[in-house]
Amino acid sequence: MKICDFHVHSEYSDDSDAPLTAIIERAISLGIPKLCITDHYDIDFIPHEEDGMDFQLDTPAYLNALKKIRQDYSDKIDIRLGVELGLMNTVADKAKAYHNAYPEFDFIIGSSHLVHGMDPYYPEYYEGKTEKEALRNYFESILENVSLIDDYNVYGHLDYIVRYCPSRENAFKLTDHKDIFEAIFKIIIPKGKGIEINTGSLYKNMPYAHPHMDILRLYKEMGGEIITVGSDAHEPKYLCYSFETYARDALTSLGYKYFCTFKNQKPEFNLL
Ligand SMILES: [Zn+2]
Ligand SMILES: [Zn+2]
Repeated sequence: MKICDFHVHSEYSDDSDAPLTAIIERAISLGIPKLCITDHYDIDFIPHEEDGMDFQLDTPAYLNALKKIRQDYSDKIDIRLGVELGLMNTVADKAKAYHNAYPEFDFIIGSSHLVHGMDPYYPEYYEGKTEKEALRNYFESILENVSLIDDYNVYGHLDYIVRYCPSRENAFKLTDHKDIFEAIFKIIIPKGKGIEINTGSLYKNMPYAHPHMDILRLYKEMGGEIITVGSDAHEPKYLCYSFETYARDALTSLGYKYFCTFKNQKPEFNLL
């Protein structure tokens, strides 16, 4: 099966103007049978500037629009209801309440966009620490989140920070952080939580998708079975970006025979 995109943003996200119809028409033209839109909702996000984006989501309006368009296109593509939930160690109760309030979601990506309220997108995050410490703090915050929060299905872009840190693709070495990833996977794998291959970095001039192949290999070695694939497209043109080249090669080389999609927050295993 063609690999289906399970990480896509629309105009319901603060940082996208993409109309739902344009995304869905693009997905149909690419020939994928299923698609999951996953707009941003970052609980307690702290905007960088006073009037900056806060990544809140009008969830009832968003779900109504998705349900309508799912019906309108039901004979052409299977649309799933998703959200990318921005997590921090301080939002566990709110994440649970949100999850309980909207049981109709098919798929919830848990993501780290902030580290204890600080945004690694901006240079200030790196001040006063070595780059290795900056990365480590980010990965440790994921470990904290997965220790406290279960209200997600896969953890998104595990090494998102490498996209923005000063030496980018050269900054990450698994040997510097292996203990943290082992601890993360020891928690999430038995709980039936997955991870994603996120190709969004590839059209941001990074040579590899999130996460680094060494992280994917460790996940596989530790028994991880659930991997979704997402483009993190904020514009329709990036849907399924490099899925049939990079993502398919990565999954195959790791020994996976399938990729995952989600329905009613349960994984589906689709043959590659
Ligand atoms: Zn994200
Ligand atoms: Zn995203």
